[in-house]
Amino acid sequence: MRDFEDVEYILAALPPSATGQIITSYVSVITGPTPRAGGPGELHIVLLDNGRQDLASSDQAEAMQCIRCAACLNVCPVYRRVGGHVFGHVYSGGIGAILTAFFWPEERAKELQELCSGCGRCTEVCPAGIDIPGLILDLRARIGRKPPLWRLAARALRNPRPYVSLVRLLQAPWARDGFLDGGPGPVAQWTRSRSLPTVVRKGLDRRAGGFSVSGRPRVAFYGGCLVEHVYPEVGEAAMKYLARRGHGVFYVAGQGCCGAPARHLGVPHDAEAMLRQQVDLLAREEPDFVVTVCPTCAKYLREGLRGSTVSVMDLSSFLVQRGEFPDGGRGRVTYHESCHSSDGEATRELLERAGFTLLEMREPGACCGFAGAYSFQFPEISGEILADKLADIASTGAEAVVVDCPGCLLNLRGGLRKKGSSVRAVHLAELLLELD
Ligand code: SF4
Repeated sequence: MRDFEDVEYILAALPPSATGQIITSYVSVITGPTPRAGGPGELHIVLLDNGRQDLASSDQAEAMQCIRCAACLNVCPVYRRVGGHVFGHVYSGGIGAILTAFFWPEERAKELQELCSGCGRCTEVCPAGIDIPGLILDLRARIGRKPPLWRLAARALRNPRPYVSLVRLLQAPWARDGFLDGGPGPVAQWTRSRSLPTVVRKGLDRRAGGFSVSGRPRVAFYGGCLVEHVYPEVGEAAMKYLARRGHGVFYVAGQGCCGAPARHLGVPHDAEAMLRQQVDLLAREEPDFVVTVCPTCAKYLREGLRGSTVSVMDLSSFLVQRGEFPDGGRGRVTYHESCHSSDGEATRELLERAGFTLLEMREPGACCGFAGAYSFQFPEISGEILADKLADIASTGAEAVVVDCPGCLLNLRGGLRKKGSSVRAVHLAELLLELD
């Protein structure tokens, strides 16, 4: 801060973000020595650097904008479960993990940064606009522990076919009715709070690899890993629904992972290679749009295709922007807005205009606790976050919870099954096709 004008900004941002007050109760202003007014003749200010200069000159300098309002902590699903003591004395939550890396031995920050699930709620509320999850991913890439299993997982996504076959073999002893309720290694703990769907024998490429209908605009459909190997029916539903509306939708053969899981595991080189591969593959087809049913894939592909003529959209935004609204919806539904969703309002509009009664949860945008590999890394934290989400869903009295992310579908459907709930979890694409 250089002068009072800078102070004004902080005073306007800090109390509303911290405690919801319009203004703070008091502000101390130190004006300097005042010997003639009978005050002190000298004023000594001791500034402790404690790593701040290193931070200011690093690629994480954005974290210096933090005014310690704690708004990010109020909404952080992990902080809400584990509390402040876990983060130590520097500062808590995601921003605390970043600051700890500069203000305290880096070893501590290695552990703390792992706690971030990357949901992004913190950035939505931060008055300083700090991209906390983005900085954490950069920190993770630099200092994060990368156990061999995570490295293998990231590598496997570059060419998943042989690994998918291996997973199918490994899951066989536990598979019942398309779900696992126990399993080897981290799956055992994961499945204490939810059932895990099995990897299917015939993935989307085998079920709908040749899907192609002519029409305008030309829409390349992108499934993503979970749709490819766990929920091919969701991908098929989206393609059929678009085709019935006259769009020239086609499945791009050879598609794979967009790189998001590898980026979140702290292996950015693998992530970039995967994203580049997908972007090249899609751009070669020269579609007007790439439509996905996964908001995380959409987010990464959008970044990769920035500057090109191809628009990447999720299914609901694509339909709403073109004014294509379904009808025939009946019954009470609630909507879980996934963390990486770019436009939850589009899905709400589709549901309401279709005729469903939309019952909002208390926190529709709160993370469901999946976050990909995170839920296997921290199954207990993830399970508790899921339990809160399931309670929120139940409190609405809805018959179904609608999602537009296959990861949330996996987590919520598995959680509802484990609880024996009658509430159905359904992906928007499946629901739309049912209305047709
Ligand atoms: S990161 Fe943003 S929201 Fe969190 S304490 Fe700092 S200024 Fe407040």
